[in-house]
Amino acid sequence: MIAVTGAVADAAYIVAAMLFILSLAGLSKHETSRRGVVFGIVGMVIALAATLAAITAGAWGQPQATLGLGLFVVAVVVGGAIGLWRARVVEMTGMPELIALLHSFVGLAAVLVGWNGALYDRGLSGALANIHHAEVFVGVFIGAVTFTGSIVAFLKLSARISSRPLVLPVKNILNVGALVLFVALTVWYVMSPELWILVVVTAVALALGWHLVASIGGGDMPVVISMLNSYSGWAAAAAGFLLDNDLLIVTGALVGSSGAYLSYIMCKAMNRSFISVIAGGFGIEASKKSHDVVGEHREIDAKSTADLLVGASTVVIMPGYGMAVAQAQHGVADLVQKLRERGVEVRFGIHPVAGRLPGHMNVLLAEAKVPYDIVLEMDEINDDLSSTDVVLVIGANDTVNPSAAEDPGSPIAGMPVLRAWEAREVVVFKRSMASGYAGVPNPLFYRENAQMLFGDAKEKVEEIVFQLSLN
Ligand code: NDP
Repeated sequence: MIAVTGAVADAAYIVAAMLFILSLAGLSKHETSRRGVVFGIVGMVIALAATLAAITAGAWGQPQATLGLGLFVVAVVVGGAIGLWRARVVEMTGMPELIALLHSFVGLAAVLVGWNGALYDRGLSGALANIHHAEVFVGVFIGAVTFTGSIVAFLKLSARISSRPLVLPVKNILNVGALVLFVALTVWYVMSPELWILVVVTAVALALGWHLVASIGGGDMPVVISMLNSYSGWAAAAAGFLLDNDLLIVTGALVGSSGAYLSYIMCKAMNRSFISVIAGGFGIEASKKSHDVVGEHREIDAKSTADLLVGASTVVIMPGYGMAVAQAQHGVADLVQKLRERGVEVRFGIHPVAGRLPGHMNVLLAEAKVPYDIVLEMDEINDDLSSTDVVLVIGANDTVNPSAAEDPGSPIAGMPVLRAWEAREVVVFKRSMASGYAGVPNPLFYRENAQMLFGDAKEKVEEIVFQLSLN
């Protein structure tokens, strides 16, 4: 009976793994994303049901299995309730910090599973024992790096600590030293599995995770999040090896490799070296220059902006984090519709890291039912900007900062940006002259063709829509 249930659970795990793969494939396109989510939910329900069946097989009456079942039910109910509550209340702008926190749980779980594997003697010997010790060691290391790295990412993203990079003079030596120590200790532990070695590697990995993410600056945080996503996948896969759970191995590998690939794509989009970012900003030195921008800025009001738009034949909207904070996307969709009715060509320029999570702007615009075909990627729109009449920068800042292209000493130098300043007129919607996420002043605001429309983006967009409806 137990063997039969085990085989059924294994088969169910394969079905669940296939559903997870289909889920990832579905999530890669707007049109199929809902289907992707459904595949993911069904896969997870099958996986949980199979695990439950495996625990209960032949369990009745046996205290250890009953305890396992009790713990399973408590974990699912408590974890599920907290997850449901957080997912319902979280603002879209709070998603990255929530994800960072969730990654830290995966890391912590991998550390605990690893330690459990070390303390619980399975009676293995020879090569099998060596493999087991290596699995324990690697699992604890990846899990601990993920745990503290994710906590620092959470603190930075929720603005509880500064997003500026920590630049210790010997940071590269510290990182490389920690990795060399890890390799040496792994060999030592496999040959002689003493607990103090595991204690040392846990401490080293916790410190390394903290330092790796603390060393990365504001503009590179998106890559860090996807990288931690990848680490959490590898941590889960390592736990899967220890628990002998094929589904955890497959799921961990899916998360690990898709997170690594996303990090790679984001690094390419931001013209950053992948190795440099995953090595905690290896080769990036602190800028010694001060980056104050001096000059006069001009202001504009909603009525004059409406007049400017009515006189334009081409308009490009560049949304950013501020549009998400203000929840201005529905007003923006109304504005687009009003302008299109008047024959104005309106398109969107989306920067790959606009907002606070990959695809953030696309999700908001899709929610407001903006047609997909006018929402263009940065590379698709940049060359058209010099022939554009009006650019509306709605709550974006770092992603339209000319110093990334023009000032080699800037902390965001080399990051491709939307070249808003090439348009005939630029209107910047924001509440003050404050910097964006990377903390870098923006010379765009002082350009001759730029005007500031101060206030909450939603209110200002609605005022413009109102003005357009008057004439
Ligand atoms: P920024 O964070 O650079 O700037 C957003 C601007 O919005 C601020 O300057 C702010 O100015 C303004 N703003 C805030 N609230 C409102 C409001 N209610 N109404 C109007 N304006 C508002 O945004 P970008 O999207 O241009 O750039 C994203 C940044 O975030 C990049 O540095 C990126 O690296 C980083 N990042 C991105 C992640 C991702 O995955 N996409 C993840 C983590 C970080 P003011 O306060 O004056 O109103």
